[in-house]
Amino acid sequence: MKNNIKRIVIAGGGTAGWMTAAMFSEYFKGIMDVILIESDTIGTVGVGEATIPPIRVFHRILNIDEQEFMRATQATFKLGIGFDGWRSENQDYIHSFGKTGKEYWACDFQNFWLRAKELGIECEYGDFCYELQAAKAEKFGVSEKSSINYAYHLDASRYAKYLRSYSEARGVKRIEGLIDNVAINTDSGFIESLQLDSGECVAGDLFIDCTGFRALLIDKVTESRFEDWSHWLKADRAVALQTTLSGPAVPYTKSVAHDAGWRWRIPLQHRVGNGFVYSSQYLGDDQAVEELASSVSGDTVSDPRVIKFKTGRRAEGWSKNCIALGLASGFVEPLESTSIHLVMSSLVRLIKLLPSTGSLSSVAREYNAQTNRELENIRDFIILHYHINGRKGNPYWRDYANMDIPDTLKHRIELFKESGRAFNRDGEVFIAESWVQVMLGQGITPHFYNPIVSAMSKSDLEKLLAGIRQAVDKSVARLPNHNDFVQKYCAAE
Ligand code: FAD
Repeated sequence: MKNNIKRIVIAGGGTAGWMTAAMFSEYFKGIMDVILIESDTIGTVGVGEATIPPIRVFHRILNIDEQEFMRATQATFKLGIGFDGWRSENQDYIHSFGKTGKEYWACDFQNFWLRAKELGIECEYGDFCYELQAAKAEKFGVSEKSSINYAYHLDASRYAKYLRSYSEARGVKRIEGLIDNVAINTDSGFIESLQLDSGECVAGDLFIDCTGFRALLIDKVTESRFEDWSHWLKADRAVALQTTLSGPAVPYTKSVAHDAGWRWRIPLQHRVGNGFVYSSQYLGDDQAVEELASSVSGDTVSDPRVIKFKTGRRAEGWSKNCIALGLASGFVEPLESTSIHLVMSSLVRLIKLLPSTGSLSSVAREYNAQTNRELENIRDFIILHYHINGRKGNPYWRDYANMDIPDTLKHRIELFKESGRAFNRDGEVFIAESWVQVMLGQGITPHFYNPIVSAMSKSDLEKLLAGIRQAVDKSVARLPNHNDFVQKYCAAE
């Protein structure tokens, strides 16, 4: 069998483009030429600064040194997301990256906790989670022995630059220029080349569309419609604003609910990324800018920037010889910081499925089916945060609480409400533990739990819980302060 894919052309040099270049340059060195085209006049979206733990796997497979990467991107550590005011105006919770309690083959820990509550044993579900307690205490540390689960907050522009030098060192050829035409073979429908405003024509065998919301390539090769999900996720705008640090960087992202949206706060080493995600049906841009500016602390170091987006996806992210990654493939608001992860997981899937010869259609179908399932699970998880809310006093949140939701999500909520159970779905990034943390955090109280836990006496249950809590508290007490650790471990020179 001979390899027909000799030349990969990546259109776009944002986070998605350079992640793709890094992956292909590392794994197909000497087999394929990798070319990336980007336009400085257009620039990148410039946001996307909170990540989730699988980014560490991505870095491991690229042999990226953590300290070097963190210094280069002014990164800090992230143990989860604090949701302020989501359940109701005055309640908050943390969705952490940790596992809560202990695992038993027959039933998950929330069943023990529900039983404990029923018996009047005083405790919070989060008391039994290492990462959650570390986040609350603003502590963090990594060591050979530590098994803390974490991700990063990073500077998006610096991350793209970092991956660019990584990729160029591995032979990626970068072309600066504006793509102004996509040449398609009229018989096969495959892309043959990209034409630049300079007159240069860049031919290739496989084209990766990383042109952001413009989706320049994928929309030319497929009739596949954009599936609009705005009836489920109403936000269609964000304002981004950077400020100076006004205190030590905490190891979690903050997501604060507002009357017509929510605000993020992402602390880096050198500044804070802030943003306000909202729906234009409920709030004007000027009001949103004002609301964000009056909510942030620290001095502003950038002008507020309004970014428009459409929530949904292209049903065929891979069509003919074109694969859309990043914002070009679709977008779900950044509430759980999933977009960069989706680029990575799609790249892994793409490499596993990459054909060497012949028709690409069956692998493309498989890729699309897997990618679509992954995004639908994330979509449902995000809707969950909105739909189960106690902020019924204003129209935005009331409309979310009253709206019809996907059947897949309906089932998961009913299952948890009725039985206290949650299960992992195949290939899902947010495992049952995340669902439990958010369902409890948003205020669902299950009616029942697994009867197997009733076999344990109250005093045995108390002993079990006290043991877990002590172990968590002891581990947290041993951790250094997050900010001190960052200064020692990876402070930018
Ligand atoms: P872009 O950054 O827009 O890059 C597009 C590239 O295409 C640029 O290089 C541009 O020059 C090039 N291009 C476009 N047209 C042409 C042309 N004609 N010729 C040549 N080049 C062209 N993700 C997370 O994981 N965590 C977050 O916290 C997070 N927050 C977000 C907040 C907001 C408000 C938004 C909108 C997104 C957020 N994301 C987040 C998503 C994240 O920003 C993107 O997934 C990520 O940056 C990848 O973007 P991209 O590379 O697809 O697009």
